[in-house]
Amino acid sequence: MSERFRNNKGDLIIGNVNAASLVDEFRTPLYAYCGEGILNNFKNFSKSLGSLNFNIYYSVKANSSMAILSLLAKEGAGADIVSVGEMHRALRAGILPSKIVFSGVGKTDEELREAIKNKIGQINIESCFELNKIVQLSENLNKKVNVAIRVNIDIDAKTHKKIATGKEDTKFGISIKNNDAENLYKKISIHKNLIPSGLAIHIGSQINDISLFKKAYLSIFQFAEYLKGKGLNVPNLDLGGGLGIDYKNLNDPNFIEYGKLVKDIFSGKDFKLGFEPGRCISANNGILLTKVIGIKITNKKRFIIVDSAMNDLIRPTLYNSFHLVEKISKKNEPLSAADIVGPICETGDFFAENRMMPDVKEGDILAIFSVGAYGASMMSNYNTRPEAAEVIIFDNKPFLIRARKSIDELLSYEVNPFE
Ligand code: PLP
Repeated sequence: MSERFRNNKGDLIIGNVNAASLVDEFRTPLYAYCGEGILNNFKNFSKSLGSLNFNIYYSVKANSSMAILSLLAKEGAGADIVSVGEMHRALRAGILPSKIVFSGVGKTDEELREAIKNKIGQINIESCFELNKIVQLSENLNKKVNVAIRVNIDIDAKTHKKIATGKEDTKFGISIKNNDAENLYKKISIHKNLIPSGLAIHIGSQINDISLFKKAYLSIFQFAEYLKGKGLNVPNLDLGGGLGIDYKNLNDPNFIEYGKLVKDIFSGKDFKLGFEPGRCISANNGILLTKVIGIKITNKKRFIIVDSAMNDLIRPTLYNSFHLVEKISKKNEPLSAADIVGPICETGDFFAENRMMPDVKEGDILAIFSVGAYGASMMSNYNTRPEAAEVIIFDNKPFLIRARKSIDELLSYEVNPFE
């Protein structure tokens, strides 16, 4: 459970800093990340791939903080981006343009133009219309563009429906059936401004059955070999992200098993590989700290109402995701069921339902674990709530990486013509 984050008194420690002192200094709601933990995961992911020829493109959508991107950039990470906003984050964080891969199912003309102008490493296209746009822009700008195709191999990633992207009835990728992907790849290969960069795949997120990666990777490998057999150049295979994490026990992802699988398939093969991990790098290195506003006991339930809400962490209500929730100082106390909820006017505003919790009082601080991916990057201002602040602990010191906005700042973007 959470013992790896606690000292022998049961106090929550993040990167050698006591969570209680973070709350004193930065207040709540507060995301706190362990910088070394994120780097260790990145290094272990990389190490597991041994001497393969590869790049790791951290998936910016998982945690878009420029501080985290900078730390990863210094370790040689590239970025997997899905918008021009993410591109600018990655560039500002020091990631080389050549180490940026642009994924996504609907890139606008403006986004493609910016990507081409900034000479980003590779654009993964997912439809014919994208190719047409790129052709047009490359001619207008008189620039060469590396283009890969994200393929759809019709595979069920056996994960939550909303993050399963491998089946043919989803909007993602181009089918390898009926020569769809092959014909598109041929078009890329003959255009004077386009450089065929290879194939990409991403079948979903939070995948715990490693045999599904095997199936997907064998399939993209065989298709790449088939295209090569037709005389086409397929230099890169981008294998996407998706490696799942342990939300219940907070164990490290099994990078070694994953790396072995990849090496078994691709060792000695003439491809440069790309990886787009997000969740498995940062998720278990982020904790959301929140203060108890009050306790409400009804005829049916005990509600622990906290000062963070679904606008800060939408995963529980969006994906029915499980997050461990505990007091920051943990003692051996009797437990009884409670719902841990935010103050937002939606029944869906919860972090945990029917969870066995100790006695909790107004003012206590709770920690919500495993929120370093798809946590802060999905925040909103719903109910006119400023986003949670964010800190990273690195070298035993906390650094504020996102300040909390004031209400004035929040409202400053609105225009009221009827004042
Ligand atoms: N690559 C692509 C194209 C994605 O859509 C995603 C996430 O949805 C990722 C990589 C990162 O996935 P994960 O965080 O599960 O590693």
